[in-house]
Amino acid sequence: MSLSTAAEGHARHTLEPFRTRRTFAIISHPDAGKTTLTERLLSAAGAIQQAGAVRGKSGARSTRSDWMEMEQQRGISISSSVMTFEFDGLTMNLLDTPGHSDFSEDTYRTLTAVDAAIMVIDAAKGIESQTLKLFEVCRLRDIPIITFINKVDREGLAPLDLIDEIQGKLALDLTPVLWPVGQGVDFRGYIDLLEKRVVTPQGKTLAEFEALEDLLEVESLVDDPVFLTALETLEMARAMLPEFDLTTFHEGHMSPVLFGSALKGIGVAELLRTLGDWGPEPRPQPALPSPISPDEKKVSGFVFKVQANMDANHRDRIAFVRLCSGTFTRGMRLKNVRSGKDMAVANPMFFFGNNRELAEEAVAGDIVGIPNHGTLSVGDTLTEGATYNVTGIPNFAPEIIRRVRLTDAMKTKQMSKALSDLAEEGVTQVFRRMVGADWIVGVVGQLQLEVLASRVAKEYGVPITFEPMGYEVARWVECDDPDELKRFITAQKMNMAEDRNNAPVFLAQNAWWADRAKQDWPKIDFLTTKERH
Ligand code: GDP
Repeated sequence: MSLSTAAEGHARHTLEPFRTRRTFAIISHPDAGKTTLTERLLSAAGAIQQAGAVRGKSGARSTRSDWMEMEQQRGISISSSVMTFEFDGLTMNLLDTPGHSDFSEDTYRTLTAVDAAIMVIDAAKGIESQTLKLFEVCRLRDIPIITFINKVDREGLAPLDLIDEIQGKLALDLTPVLWPVGQGVDFRGYIDLLEKRVVTPQGKTLAEFEALEDLLEVESLVDDPVFLTALETLEMARAMLPEFDLTTFHEGHMSPVLFGSALKGIGVAELLRTLGDWGPEPRPQPALPSPISPDEKKVSGFVFKVQANMDANHRDRIAFVRLCSGTFTRGMRLKNVRSGKDMAVANPMFFFGNNRELAEEAVAGDIVGIPNHGTLSVGDTLTEGATYNVTGIPNFAPEIIRRVRLTDAMKTKQMSKALSDLAEEGVTQVFRRMVGADWIVGVVGQLQLEVLASRVAKEYGVPITFEPMGYEVARWVECDDPDELKRFITAQKMNMAEDRNNAPVFLAQNAWWADRAKQDWPKIDFLTTKERH
């Protein structure tokens, strides 16, 4: 299999448009180099002139609301944005995911909207906790993964040890595409197994080969012990690892590996081309009553993210929709299967970081932003009339449960609007107690509480604080027998709340009480995730 040539890029024009889409995310542990790699990918594709544009330190984000300042101060990425760019006859949709673990819920949902992922690993650290978690989400959906082992310009673990660790911890077959020649101060460049050449860090070809053994004939190389070692370890890796197989890759069981350096721009162009040539086209979307095939003629898509107040001046609310099939055009009427209501999509948008433009036409794999006033929620399916329900978009049971305290009682109405607006984004959850008038918020991580308070204050002018209420566990409760469910709710009335879709939620002081309730009520299902329909 060879990397794409200009001719292949040209041939892509004759493909059905959705076949030219590559919709992907980058998963990594914080500090592995995701931001740097994103910038490099965009500049390698010619989408930005200068590396550094993504972070936009120089005020590019000044229109974003203040909570973004918090993000910048903490140096973490809280919101996911979409970057669409052209490369070699393809349309690449890169979905950014927040790296901080408190926001992994948002990340999980973003991963429901991609067809492939790039897994960035720090060569000095190997597999880290967040990488592992995100990988597991990808595995649940069999998302094909390309592995980029970053920072080879620094001292790191030996390539074979890294491969061993990744294979062992992730139970994933790897197959080398770019192999490093030396690391750190000894870094000499890399062996590109696809283009069959040896390349310097500056991109100069030192030698070409048919078979790896040919390189033993190149004196200038074999005189260098660093190169000899690289060749030896590569031979060992090849003997130990399976040959690349496109189907196994697409099924999520095999990952091509590239060693490179995001910072130095090494391996980045090859990464893009690997994704372009091998990366899957839009895949069928799991849905009920049946998966949605990308070549179905009628339009369908689903909301995987809602973001309120992206532009503080306009109080806007954008639903990010991943298209699953058909050709969407501006002005089209789509049905929200959950509510049964039709909506005319007058101002759909494409995004490039914070910039947006009207989307005139979009196909499966594309992400369009639809401005709305609360009619669209995470998990909603939009169709041209068909009654599909996209599945697999989870709501996670909160791990931190707090009562909301309002310091200014006159602002109850604004507070309820603020909390419900922000809950629609799906990061925080809002519950109302069945007894009493308490507003309760549930989050998966502490940082989300801080962001919530800061946003409610800045965006809605309502100062709030939170107080513990003696609950640590929340479980959605369901039962095939509606009478049994009623009995449970009546018996537990003091510990019951409703989520914003009026689904009953059982609150328990701690895990022990939650277990106890489970034993006492064997017919009731206690759910830690709830699919959004
Ligand atoms: P993120 O948290 O995953 O987005 O990581 P960043 O892209 O912000 O990178 C974390 C740190 O690693 C920054 O100081 C980068 O400059 C540095 N870094 C990223 N890529 C490389 C690389 O290839 N080599 C070296 N030496 N440093 C890198």
